[in-house]
Amino acid sequence: MGNKCDITFSGDDSLSYFANGKSLCWFLESKLEEQIKRLHSVVGNAIVDDHNIVVGTGSSQLVQAALYALSPSDQLEPISVVSATPFYSAYPVVTDFVRSGLHKWAGDARAFEKYGPYIELITSPNNPDGIIREPVVNGDQGKLIYDLAYYWPQYTAITSPANHDIMLFTISKCIGHAGSRIGWALVKDKEVAMKMTKFMEISTIGVSKEAQLRAAKILEVVSNSCLDITLENFFEYTFAWLIYKGGEEEDCEKLLKEHKIQTRSGRRFGSDSRNVRISMLSRDEDFNIFLKRLTVVQGSTNRK
Ligand code: PMP
Repeated sequence: MGNKCDITFSGDDSLSYFANGKSLCWFLESKLEEQIKRLHSVVGNAIVDDHNIVVGTGSSQLVQAALYALSPSDQLEPISVVSATPFYSAYPVVTDFVRSGLHKWAGDARAFEKYGPYIELITSPNNPDGIIREPVVNGDQGKLIYDLAYYWPQYTAITSPANHDIMLFTISKCIGHAGSRIGWALVKDKEVAMKMTKFMEISTIGVSKEAQLRAAKILEVVSNSCLDITLENFFEYTFAWLIYKGGEEEDCEKLLKEHKIQTRSGRRFGSDSRNVRISMLSRDEDFNIFLKRLTVVQGSTNRK
């Protein structure tokens, strides 16, 4: 992208805790709000129009904010928090870390049988196995948090715009800028969005303005890349599905691992072991090493 994503700040920019926008989330930069909405409508992966946007220091902070906002404050017992196995490893830690009286980790959603209110985290596509998921607990008092960190075209087909009460996204997965720590929640219910905003206010008094503005700039460039056919679409350049054609039995993940290439077997995606998925979000330097190693693999299998 060359210098298209460059952004400069003056010494006296962004001094205030407040952003200038009119959003319910008072520290959300309006440029970021605009670019988040634009990208979702360009990609078609989420409905944004009837949702409030709450920005967070990564979606990790938003998971905590959502748990806080959805936990009833008038119950004697903490609310149970569940997710179907295999779940993203941070959920149990985040739920129980400060031993809040509000919520408590209750493990695998498929094994959850307790009657009463609960919160279910639904990660789709899922970390670690990439599977598209739906809620699994069959209760009528459930509150659902959809973690859609990976619902982007480089990871899965975008079949329809998601339209849930709480949806979490992050630039860590959307564009690979994990270090900027920017995530956002799309929240239908105003009260819940206000509670989440309160959580951010108490924990960090908002989210870095520089990180938000930089994210806005990069998201703008990414949206442009999807709309202008003279540009390379960003989302077409982030993973590869590799097929080994040398023989039926080959375990491609194992073969590549012997050559120091870490991949994810096709078996995990319902395909067979001749296929692997390779994450391509790397710098040219790493990519060139990858190509070199691949050439060695090719040479060694040709000799067999
Ligand atoms: N949700 C899922 C499913 C993730 O995989 C991750 C990152 N590994 C996160 C949330 C947290 O992302 P962030 O960097 O935005 O805190």
